[in-house]
Amino acid sequence: MISESEALARVLAAVMPLQAEPLALLEALDRYAAQEATATVPIPAFDQSSMDGYAVIAAETMTSQPLRVTGEQAAGLDAALRLQSGCAIRIFTGAPVPAGADAVIMQEDVRREGDAILCTDPVIAGENIRRAGADLCQGQFVLRAGEQITPGRMALLASQGLDQISVHALPRVAVLSTGDELVPPGSGPLQAGQIYNTNGLMLRGMLARLGIRTSTQAHCRDDLPSTIATLRELLRTHDVVLISGGVSVGDHDQIKPALKELGIEPELWRVKVKPGKPFLFARGAQSYVFGLPGNPVSSFVTFLLFVRPALLKLMGAATALLKPRLIPATAGTVLTNPGDRPHYLRGTLANGQFMPFGLQQSHALLSLSRAEALLRLEAGQNLLAGDAAEVWLLD
Ligand code: AMP
Ligand code: MG
Repeated sequence: MISESEALARVLAAVMPLQAEPLALLEALDRYAAQEATATVPIPAFDQSSMDGYAVIAAETMTSQPLRVTGEQAAGLDAALRLQSGCAIRIFTGAPVPAGADAVIMQEDVRREGDAILCTDPVIAGENIRRAGADLCQGQFVLRAGEQITPGRMALLASQGLDQISVHALPRVAVLSTGDELVPPGSGPLQAGQIYNTNGLMLRGMLARLGIRTSTQAHCRDDLPSTIATLRELLRTHDVVLISGGVSVGDHDQIKPALKELGIEPELWRVKVKPGKPFLFARGAQSYVFGLPGNPVSSFVTFLLFVRPALLKLMGAATALLKPRLIPATAGTVLTNPGDRPHYLRGTLANGQFMPFGLQQSHALLSLSRAEALLRLEAGQNLLAGDAAEVWLLD
């Protein structure tokens, strides 16, 4: 059995980012950049007013002399006005500052009398002017490869006049649930011994959270020929096949024998982690196979530990983004791990305090449904109430 960290390292060493594709900015939302971009348009692009008011010479606002209003510059085309001494030019937010002006006085700080203004509160040079390039200079990075396209970054790219960006493709993912006992939700009442398939939906939901909204779902019974046939077809048509169940050592666990028939040797099987020990990873000719244990909590945890970072890497995410979101917390009660594997507890998080919720067994769906965070206890580790700990924030 290998450690969690070694398992993750092996998985990540095996997967490579998918090809790049140019997409319209909105289509690229949440994807990972396959290119970098540098600024060609500074922000602001020109010296501009940050207020509605009057462009002035700051020193002339210190006196009680009226300033004659000689023109108007709104946001839009630059009228190329020039401010003369003793004068002011009416100006609006976002408008280019006329030559000769060194400040903008807010309209609230003047009294308008006919075609002149009286300054009631003087300004200093530079006031209410946004200088060209103060936010972003030409040549500065606007996007690095591996960064996620967020609405804010989309806006920055648009500010450069770009309407598309190269991002990595999304993997085609199949979720294959195995088990004779499984029945699709919505298909009527259960017969004795049957259960509804919960992992299929849960895993597809977790994929959707990563931006993979078009996964396909399949099911196969616990017999070797149909497992081989289903796997062969899914491997042919997908980049990733996510299997739940059937990866243990029971007589009805057909995944390993089926992969063997298809000429695929697992690169790893069984990881020192609880829940999730029977986790399997293999590489097909053109696809990756993840075998997650059938117990829902085991599927959930191994997805987060190994599948999530692998998918993010496939999607081109930068290395720093593959890590979990860990935040400091305290144990809300005594937490013990008498076992010989690290244990991921599921719990709630209130005021920075982690409280395990409900049953901590790998089939316990209710506690999973209430979990806001995971807390990892090392083998043999005990925490007292109030002890500091890091928790993995779930979304
Ligand atoms: P397995 O890993 O196939 O031995 O399954 C372990 C446990 O998880 C068994 O109790 C299965 O009934 C249950 N299980 C397997 N697949 C699913 C699924 N898709 N949804 C809900 N429970 C499952
Ligand atoms: Mg099974």
